[in-house]
Amino acid sequence: ENYFKIAIAGGGGVGKSCLAMRFLRDIFLENYDPNFQDFYRNDVMVDDQVATLEIMDIAYQEEYTPNRDRHLRSQDGFVCVFSLTSKATVGAVKRALLRIRRVKEKDKFVGVLIANKCDLSEEERAFSSDVGKDLAREFNVPYFECSAKTGENVENSFHAIVREIRNT
Ligand code: GDP
Ligand code: MG
Repeated sequence: ENYFKIAIAGGGGVGKSCLAMRFLRDIFLENYDPNFQDFYRNDVMVDDQVATLEIMDIAYQEEYTPNRDRHLRSQDGFVCVFSLTSKATVGAVKRALLRIRRVKEKDKFVGVLIANKCDLSEEERAFSSDVGKDLAREFNVPYFECSAKTGENVENSFHAIVREIRNT
């Protein structure tokens, strides 16, 4: 199957929309309407094979309704994002990870944990990389420090998900 449904989860302002735009269009938009429910469908090449990706921003779905859980369950992979500049976003992404794990009803789900905004200086970081690495270990997903602004590791993260879905 060449069709992949990928959800981008995480708190507001962590850079979900920017990561999707960087990955799909290779551009960085400084300001993105936070209330916009992002949805993109795109063909991309991963390891010399075409993959049709349906990417959805599930930011504003903190509310637990059966419909939303069903929608979450229908996703193949999860890009879970927090920002290196905000401690609060670690809590938000952890809640998203817990919820995904619960609706998937398995300990292992296909996902990556992204610490975004790694282009910013040490002084602007709210905590060390260990926080993200520990969280990734807890949920058994790969960990990437990314920047939607510079593009660092963005393609790697999305490709890692596609690869893992192909291998499961
Ligand atoms: P979302 O609410 O998770 O979709 O976040 P957005 O993609 O709208 O980004 C929120 C804010 O963070 C915007 O002002 C972006 O310009 C900024 N931003 C997003 N990604 C990065 C990044 O990698 N580096 C920096 N420095 N800023 C970023
Ligand atoms: Mg957004």
